[in-house]
Amino acid sequence: VIELRHVEKCFGDAHVLKDVSLSVMPGEVVVVIGPSGSGKSTLCRAINRLERIDSGEILILGEPLPEEGHELAAVRAELGMVFQSFNLFAHMSVLRNVTIGPTEVLGVSKAEAEREALELLERVGVASQAKKVPAQLSGGQQQRVAIARSLAMHPRAMLFDEPTSALDPEMINEVLEVMVSLASQGMTMIVVTHEMSFARRVADRVVFMSDGAILEEGTPGAFFEHPKTERAREFLDSIR
Ligand code: ATP
Ligand code: MG
Repeated sequence: VIELRHVEKCFGDAHVLKDVSLSVMPGEVVVVIGPSGSGKSTLCRAINRLERIDSGEILILGEPLPEEGHELAAVRAELGMVFQSFNLFAHMSVLRNVTIGPTEVLGVSKAEAEREALELLERVGVASQAKKVPAQLSGGQQQRVAIARSLAMHPRAMLFDEPTSALDPEMINEVLEVMVSLASQGMTMIVVTHEMSFARRVADRVVFMSDGAILEEGTPGAFFEHPKTERAREFLDSIR
């Protein structure tokens, strides 16, 4: 579904992605971990072309990522993205946040979009909040709305960049549970997270980044029990 080949990215002198190659198969859940500044967010942003790459290739559903325009918008619609900050439209109701993409981009009727939005809000456990504006919701509720909003576009894959790291501890699990359930329904996912219990439970593959490069990848069992590099061992010790 998503394939990166020898991707390189610099910000000025800083070499932020170094020969990054990664392919994500349909239904696969890939968890990306690594120290702060290792390039995890840049990787996610590059996949959506929120960040331009210097060289290498990114293929989405087998096609090269378009430079711009309608083609790029179409690819972005295939890839749901959920960030650390919830990025909801503050002046719109929860319901409108979820229907705006389908009505404005996909051309779905208002009635049909609302029917589906309520179903999605139900699925993530916030249907009772539909008429409120985002500021009236807890962080965990807002993040679940953000997930519902992405799902309303019928994405072929979802990218999550530290979706729980801005949340109070008691709200983390409610968001993780939604992600666990998405994974169990076969959604293709790339998840940047420091939640190692989630990684162990849900990841098909764990990718460890350090200094812009993928240093190791493997099953959660293999990676957590027997990290191959000193750098990964240090990182795991620091978060355990
Ligand atoms: P964190 O765990 O803190 O979120 P990360 O692994 O997501 O870290 P990135 O945000 O991808 O790391 O950043 C990788 C490197 O690129 C860092 O050194 C950062 O300072 C640098 N960087 C990121 N965005 C920019 C930018 N727009 N301009 C210049 N440098 C940037
Ligand atoms: Mg980041």
